[in-house]
Order: sequence, then C-alpha cells, then structure tokens
Amino acid sequence: MITDKPVLAGNKEPDLTQEVRLKGAPASRGYAIGPAFLFKRDTINIDYRTVAPEDSEEEKDKFRKSIEQSNKELIKISTITHQKLGEEFSAIFDAQIMMLFDPEITKIINREIEQAGFTAEAATDKAFNQQIELLRASADTYLAQRITDLEDVKFRIIRNLQRGKLLSHVEDSSVIVADNLTPADMILFSRQNIVGIILDFGGLTSHVALIARSLNIPLVIGLHKISGVVKNGDEIIVDGIDGIAIARPAPNILEKYRKKMEKFRKFISIFENDINEPAITIDGKRINVLANIEFRDEIGDMGICGAEGIGLYRTEHLFLSRGYFPSEDHQFKYYSSLFDLAKAWPVTIRAFDVGGDKVLESSFHEMNPFLGWRGIRIMLDRPDIFKNQIRAILRASVGKNVKLMFPMIHNLTQVHQIKELMEEIYVELDKKDIPYKKIPVGVMIEVPSAVMVSEEIAREVAFFSIGTNDLTQYTLAVDRGNDIISSLYKELEPAVIRLIDKTIQSGHLSNIPVSICGELGSNILATPLLIGMGIDDISVVIRRVPEVKYIIKNLRESDCVKLKNEVLKLGTVAEVEARLKSWLTEHMPQFAGYI
Ligand code: PEP
Ligand code: MG
Repeated sequence: MITDKPVLAGNKEPDLTQEVRLKGAPASRGYAIGPAFLFKRDTINIDYRTVAPEDSEEEKDKFRKSIEQSNKELIKISTITHQKLGEEFSAIFDAQIMMLFDPEITKIINREIEQAGFTAEAATDKAFNQQIELLRASADTYLAQRITDLEDVKFRIIRNLQRGKLLSHVEDSSVIVADNLTPADMILFSRQNIVGIILDFGGLTSHVALIARSLNIPLVIGLHKISGVVKNGDEIIVDGIDGIAIARPAPNILEKYRKKMEKFRKFISIFENDINEPAITIDGKRINVLANIEFRDEIGDMGICGAEGIGLYRTEHLFLSRGYFPSEDHQFKYYSSLFDLAKAWPVTIRAFDVGGDKVLESSFHEMNPFLGWRGIRIMLDRPDIFKNQIRAILRASVGKNVKLMFPMIHNLTQVHQIKELMEEIYVELDKKDIPYKKIPVGVMIEVPSAVMVSEEIAREVAFFSIGTNDLTQYTLAVDRGNDIISSLYKELEPAVIRLIDKTIQSGHLSNIPVSICGELGSNILATPLLIGMGIDDISVVIRRVPEVKYIIKNLRESDCVKLKNEVLKLGTVAEVEARLKSWLTEHMPQFAGYI
C-alpha cells in the first residue's frame, strides 16, 4: 500500500545523513541489503561554446576516446543481450557499433571541430542531428526506424564526453536506486550482480516488475522520493515482503533485517524437496505448474525449479529490442532454437502483445495506450505482421509440443477473424509445400467483455489462459503501471475472482483446459481458491514454481472447493484477503508472515 502520494509542491532540502524509511509497494519478493547505486538518466545539456583553434586537437582526442569507450560499452551490451536473448536481439547493438564508426559522420564531426571551432559534444550533436533529419525526411520506413538507434548512439558518445556515470561502474551487490527503469536497463543490471532495486515510480505488474521477479531480485516501487534522499554508497535495506526501503539504517535495524533475511532463506528452502515430483493434491487432483518465460536463457532454470513446461512465452522482445518486427525467416530461426531448448517440455507461445506499456519511446503515443492499439488489435489490422509471426511459429513447431495463444481478445468476432487468418495461412503453406504443424490455438482471457462471452469463445478455441494482470486492470479500471493508484490494484477483488470463476466454468463446459498465466498465479493466497475453482494449469514466474507446487501437494481439492464456495459469496476484497489468509495459516502455519 502506498502511503506517500507524490509531492506536488513545497519540497524541503533533504537531510542526507539521517535514517530514512519509506513505504511503497512490494513488487518482487525477498530482502536485500547493500550499498546504493544511484541511477539517473541525466538530461544532457550540450555545451555549444566554441573553442580556440589550438584546442581543436584536444577536442578531437576527446571524441576518439569517447568512441573507444562507447564501443566497449556497446560490445558489452551486445554480448549480454546475445547470451540472455540470442543473436536476434544483439543485432541491434551491433548495428549501433557500426554507426559509431560511420566514416561520413566522423568526417563531419572532425570538420566541425577544426573549421567551426565546435566542442566535441557540440560537433557530435550537430553531425548526428543532420543524419537524423535526413532519415526523418525519407519515405523508407526501415530507414526511419534507424532514428532511435542514431539517437541512442549520439547520447552515448555525448554522455561519455561528459563523463557521466555509467552502468559499468555499478559495484557488486549494489542496490539500484532510481526514479524508474526501462526493461532495457533491467537487462543490463541483470549482469551486474545487483541485490535489490528501489524505485520512485513503477507499477506492480509493469514489465520492469515482471523482469525483476524473473531475475529473483527484490524490488520495491512507488517510493516517490527515495532517489532524492539517497547518496551513492549509502547502506540500503530493501524489504520486498512489506514494501519498505530504509536508507542509512541504524545498527539495530540492520541486525533485525539480517535475521529476517536468514529466516526467509530457510522458509524458501522448504520448497526445494521433491521439486521434480508432479503437483498432485492429497486427494489426487493433478495441476500442471508451468513457467512464464521472459528471457530465453531462463529455460536453463526450468529443471532446477521443477517447471513442467512453459505456460507463457512472451514474444514482444523480438520487436522491442530492435524497433521493428523481424522477418518470418528470422522469427523461424528464433522459435526453432527456442523449441529445441525447451526439449520435450510443452511450450505455449503467445503472439505479439505490443502496445500498452510495451511501446518504443519513438513510436507514436496514444492518450490511453492500455485502451488503445494493442495485442490482437494490431495483429488483425496488420495481417502481414500476423501472418509472418504465425507462419514462423507453425513452421518451427514441426515435431515439437507447442501451443499458440492470442492476447487481448475482447469479443467473439476477433476469434472468428483469427480463425479465418489461420485458415488462409494453412492454405498458403500447403500450396507452397512448406512443412508446418497445425497446433492447438487458444486465447487469453484478460478483458472483462471476453469473460462475458467466454462460453461462446470456448466453443471455438482449444484452451483458455487467464491473464489476471490485465483482467484486474480492465475490470477495476486501475492502470497496472501507475504507482499512485497501486493500492487499488487488487487481484482478489470479488469482481475479479468471480470473472475468473466464470471463465473456468465456461472453458470446462466445452471441455477445454483453462490455465492462469497472470501474476495472481504466484500469489500463494490464491492457490487454494484457484484449485477450488477447478483451474487446470498454473503458470508462474520460474522462481515461484517450487512454492506453488509445494502448496498444491499439501492441499485437498475437496477443502479448496468448500473455500471457493465461501469466498465467492464475499463482497469486499478485505474480506476475501482475510479469509484466504486465515485459511492458509490454519492449513499451513509455516506461511505465516509471508502472506
Ligand atoms: C496478463 O495480463 O495477466 C498477462 C499474463 O499478460 P501480460 O502481463 O504480458 O500483459
Ligand atoms: Mg496481458
């Protein structure tokens, strides 16, 4: 629960020596203690003064050094991205490296320094802006998409000229303190051995929060002023259980948190027994516990965590990391290697869910992006993007255990349109004799209107997967990425759980399996309720698989059904949460303190 709303006016100068304790919202579970690394995405002010002719050699030298430094950084980013996400993604940074050494731009920069007497940063700004303007004027959309890359490269060179703080300076075991982060920042930090993150802003199910959970890094969001009251190196406690951040803690507080950390470690270790056993309730109901995957290299952890397959593979990275949708052949290679890595595990791959918070900074901005051009709406408006992706998936699925699902469905018409496009694809592939596999096609149920017609939709598809992150935001009209109202973002609101129940019933009326892949699946309070409702599969962030399996193995389905009947009659979220808490503590006292 957020206690501090953003300050609108009247800020006092902060005292940077005293202990500061702020309450935000816990977005990734666990505790961390470590020195602060203050991450600021500085606004860059270009120094447009001219320099004396005798100083121009020095400016040219500064430029050369900045290029060397930028090159090193980009090689590092490209390598990390290659390891985390594969060659498809690292290509974008390789292209940026080529831009760094572009002979035409370098010539202009050196000329501006020598002849016009510009500083290195002013000459860089001017030369890159000229190129950007040329691309902007071009009608070629591929070239226009390179503008973001040129801007990135320009800022990197200028930042290095200005000797700004770089990510590579993050010390081991640091806690990142920032106003907000982007998914790209998260990818970089994931390699720095950081122990925790605290943010002024952010949303509970924002993309950054989901990545922090995948990486198992405690995260507290919505602290509003933390980045203004912390210095680099200050000791920080991150309490990702209660959503608290403490800067410069007193020794007794530090001691208290060290003990909490130790207790939490022991608590987590109880889930590690029999990790590879299937999750079967005491009275014999089997639930498949699957993993939500963000990064391809997470697949390596599936065995360690006991995941029984991939219940949600998000493909948006393919677009976000490069700024355009890759070709069918690129995608085919990517999905083939993904399905190979997943070996015999079943994989449910999701079609592009671009839009909402998954947009490029350079793309056009909508007034209400979450209510806008997103997911299936883009795909149906752009059959070229739809067909490229689906053809690539179907081709890569030959001999593999793959299912396909579509996000953001809001009515039955969209399901009909998907089916028509799929038919067209089958005919086209058959005509060309291209090998492919007809795989089960399902939909995500994450918009309330889809729930209302879920009986009809269920007759047309092979499975349902409930996306509670969006279902919660659209049912309650609470933006999932907005920290100011994150205390209203409650996945256990009676309205939400009744919609989940209706979806499961509709699916079962048509004998199709229903899974959950939203974050509610990893909220252990909800596990008995979901089992009582009859959920077939639960797909959660990989690190939570052991815990969810442990709970299932210690429950009786018959008790869960009784609990569900009771809880579905409750009218407020407070009553629902209180009942689920008391029930779980009664059945599994070891969870007290962590629910
Ligand atoms: C969801 O909405 O619950 C979901 C799983 O999809 P995403 O978080 O990617 O929107
Ligand atoms: Mg969603």
